[in-house]
Amino acid sequence: MKPHVSDFERGRNIVRVLVVLAIVLGISALMFTQPDSREQMVLVFAAFACVIAVIVVARLMCVCPHCGKRIVSGVLVLKVCPQCKHSLITGQKVKTKH
Ligand SMILES: [Zn+2]
Repeated sequence: MKPHVSDFERGRNIVRVLVVLAIVLGISALMFTQPDSREQMVLVFAAFACVIAVIVVARLMCVCPHCGKRIVSGVLVLKVCPQCKHSLITGQKVKTKH
């Protein structure tokens, strides 16, 4: 059986790729193009589009599979929903140590 991949995890993977892409495009725009050139404009625009896509994907997909709470901050690091303490990956309850 294939391991279940939640929308949250899929969204997080997309966000991760887009964030890296936005950084690479942004750095390329600063390092490898002439200031105020057409190439720089294109790269800056592409980086900006990636940032917009990150926001859209995060809003649509990065929600807790258990309680539906939207995970806004810490999308890339959180493993457990801060609201209901269920795993964001599997939706299962996470046992907490006392
Ligand atoms: Zn939750």
